[in-house]
Amino acid sequence: MGNENQQTARQRIITLLTEVEMSARDLSQAIGIREKEVVRHLVHVEKTVASQKKNLVIRPFQCLDCEYMFKERKRYTRPGRCPRCKGTHV
Ligand SMILES: [Zn+2]
Repeated sequence: MGNENQQTARQRIITLLTEVEMSARDLSQAIGIREKEVVRHLVHVEKTVASQKKNLVIRPFQCLDCEYMFKERKRYTRPGRCPRCKGTHV
């Protein structure tokens, strides 16, 4: 991916997140890049947004089995397993 595409992806992430609450997974589907890429962009996006005094909402990961929300989780990487139901469909 070229530098220009990286910038575009970040810009799209910022635009999406200022409009609607999305998770890294939602973003990866909306933009068409891998979730791993989204996570990498989010680190930069957060800095950019902080400097612009914008507010962005990243939805926390949620367990697909019991809908437990990983609200405490500050990082964007997907948790390995759910602390409530021990399921791995996170
Ligand atoms: Zn669960």
